[in-house]
Amino acid sequence: MAHPTAQADQVHAATTDARRRLTTIAAASGQHLTTTGDPTGWLAGQAARCLAALTGPGARLCPHIGTSPHVVHAAVWAPGLLVCPTCTHLLRPTATEDRTCDRCRRTLTGLYPAMAALGPVLLTYGLCSPCQNATGLTAPRTPVEGAPPPRHHARPPRRHRRHPPRR
Ligand SMILES: [Zn+2]
Ligand SMILES: [Zn+2]
Repeated sequence: MAHPTAQADQVHAATTDARRRLTTIAAASGQHLTTTGDPTGWLAGQAARCLAALTGPGARLCPHIGTSPHVVHAAVWAPGLLVCPTCTHLLRPTATEDRTCDRCRRTLTGLYPAMAALGPVLLTYGLCSPCQNATGLTAPRTPVEGAPPPRHHARPPRRHRRHPPRR
């Protein structure tokens, strides 16, 4: 078993790595990285739900995830599934799910994909415009720099394309 201090160091390193990857993803896609200050909002609820599913009987991991903490990917629409950075294709949503808002569950075009760093977990989700506004997860016009962890969200460069908003 790992030494508790070493384990904590690894979690910290994985958390830092997750944040760095998110920053890289945001920069590569020209998206803004923002920090959300509300630890009790919709996203926190999704993270808790995700964690509960991961520790439940239906949890599924890709074969590359071991016992030591590393950056892992999860998606709101696939509770219980955790994959390493090379297995993100396993999180691909169905065509219907790809058009379904993760908050209000309406099926529509014009969803906004986004990703949040929650400790070492990069959680991907897609929201419709009203839900973005309702959760306060709308990307601001100016990037927020130097804000402290724990939670950041950015739009990933390419998940499967959600359709662009209808004009
Ligand atoms: Zn993997
Ligand atoms: Zn919605």
